[in-house]
Amino acid sequence: MDYQWVFAEITRAIRPVLAGGRTADYIPALAQTDPKHFGFAVADLTSHVQGTGDWEIPFSIQSVSKVFTLALVLAADGDRLWTLVGKEPSGAPFNSLYHLQRSGGIPRNPFVNAGALIITDRLQTLTGDASGTLRDFLRTETDNPDIDFDARIAESEQRHGHRNAALAHLLADYGRLDNPVDTVLDHYTRQCSLTMSCRDLVLAASFLARHGLRASHSRLLNRSEAKRINAVMLVGGTYDTAGDFAHRVGLPAKSGVGGGIIAVIPGRCILAAWGPAIDRYGNSLAGVTALDVFTTHTGLSIF
Ligand code: GLN
Repeated sequence: MDYQWVFAEITRAIRPVLAGGRTADYIPALAQTDPKHFGFAVADLTSHVQGTGDWEIPFSIQSVSKVFTLALVLAADGDRLWTLVGKEPSGAPFNSLYHLQRSGGIPRNPFVNAGALIITDRLQTLTGDASGTLRDFLRTETDNPDIDFDARIAESEQRHGHRNAALAHLLADYGRLDNPVDTVLDHYTRQCSLTMSCRDLVLAASFLARHGLRASHSRLLNRSEAKRINAVMLVGGTYDTAGDFAHRVGLPAKSGVGGGIIAVIPGRCILAAWGPAIDRYGNSLAGVTALDVFTTHTGLSIF
């Protein structure tokens, strides 16, 4: 399928949106990104990629990384993982301390920061190098050896990441972490600082559209595990605005405060959008608009 016609619709629709929103400024190094960037890419099940705009420019993937760490831990641990984190909608900002305390230290889902810290901790226990394992996986899936951490962004987040440090200490207090707090925070901020383009993201995440099969067609997840990740993305991938996102776009998705979003049409294709200006929930304004236009004009969604 040739998507150039829908790319033209998207480019028209995002133009007014690019003027609004702000880049994430609670991580100062991220605030310096030009908010006028926009990229969009689609990969089919054979890893054929089409893109438009800045689809080959790498950016900070931030919380989009949480889908990949979740998949790697699920591949190793199976359903046991779901005793460590919930599968409920976020219902609060992604870095809420209040919800973690109210639930007695079981995060709502693996995508809120507390849940992602537990997943990173588990990956660290399984591999001895959580962020390095993730980077190697992403390089293999994309065939792109240039994917790497951005030390400046990781350091900027570490220096200002008091809230994540508080979440990690609270988790440790509940006895939920195997590794030292500093080790978990270090790997977590590094995984968030990975830089990838829309092209890289659609290739790396295509196992979610292939019902668990990697780019090499070897199996990462079984069909039901892939279904479960997509289901949790649908209810929690865009945090406390997941309902509005499902209403507009109708796809499982995961956003990051770097302005990236991936979305999945199981059995068909994977989409990635990037626009650095985000709304107050942490989702890319242009990215959500682009995905809305894509599903509306192509008629492709899971509903
Ligand atoms: N690194 C960011 C944080 O922990 C990721 C948040 C996000 O992308 N939603 O706050």
